[in-house]
Amino acid sequence: MKLTEETVKNKIVFLGTAGARYAAFGLIRQAGGMWINIDGTNLHIDPGPGAFIYTHKKGLNPHWLSAIIVSHRHLDHCADVNHVIETITLGGKRKKGILLCPEDAISEDPVVLKFTRSNLQETVTIKEGFSRVIGNAEVSFPIKHVHGVETYGIVIKNSTETISLGYIADTKFFEKLIEAYSKVKVLIMNVTLKDPKPNIPHLSTIDAKRLIEGIKPDIAIMTHFGRTMVYAKPWEIARRLTDETGIETVAAWDNMIFDLETLKPVRQR
Ligand SMILES: [Zn+2]
Repeated sequence: MKLTEETVKNKIVFLGTAGARYAAFGLIRQAGGMWINIDGTNLHIDPGPGAFIYTHKKGLNPHWLSAIIVSHRHLDHCADVNHVIETITLGGKRKKGILLCPEDAISEDPVVLKFTRSNLQETVTIKEGFSRVIGNAEVSFPIKHVHGVETYGIVIKNSTETISLGYIADTKFFEKLIEAYSKVKVLIMNVTLKDPKPNIPHLSTIDAKRLIEGIKPDIAIMTHFGRTMVYAKPWEIARRLTDETGIETVAAWDNMIFDLETLKPVRQR
C-alpha cells in the first residue's frame, strides 16, 4: 500500500522493527525508524539504515518532513539521517527542516554531517525536559535514558491532546521511566531483548510488562527487536502480554501502519 500526504494523516509508519547489531545490520528485519504524522505535520524518528529507501517505497517523500528526531547516535537509529536531510532540502537547494538530536550526535565524530546540517532551517540539541512545538505537533523529551550514549525518548501530542504517544527509545529499565511516560495513550517501546541481560542496556519483555502495567496506556506497541526477540515470535509475546496485563499489546512488523485515531494497525492487503 502506497501512502500519500493525505492517507498518511495521523498514522505511524514503521519503516523498520529491527534493533541492535544482529537484527538491524544482519537485515533480519528493516531498521528505518518511524514516520509519524500528527494532524498533517510529518516527523521522521530514528532514520536507521535503509530509512531513505523504505520511505520512498511506501510512497512517502522526505521533502514533506518538518523534522527529523534522532534519539541517539547509534547507527541503527541514524545511519540514513544524511540521505533524509538531502531529500528534505533538495540537496541543499532549499533551507528546510529541523533536526533534533543529542549533543553527542553532532559534536566530536558527528553522525550528522556539518554539510547536511548547514542546509537545514535549524539544528536543536535535546536536553532532558526540553519541549518544542513543530507545526501541529508538540514534542517533548521527558527524561534522559540509560544507554551508554546520550539518549532520549519522546512524547508527542497534538494541540487538543486527542493524540498522545510515548516512544521509549533504547534504555536500560529504571523506575522513573514510568512517571516520565505516564498519561500517553499509545506507548511504543524498543524491546530489544527477550530476556534481561544485566550488561546490555536494553529493555526486555519483563521490562516491557513493568512499563505497560505502570504506564497503563490504551495500547502498547513493541518494536526494535533484537535477534532473540525476532526468533521468539514477537507477536506471540505480544499476545501473552495482552493477556497478562489486560492492555492490548501489539508487536510491530515492518511497514506496519498504525492509525492514531482508531488506535489500531491498518490491515493491508
Ligand atoms: Zn542504541
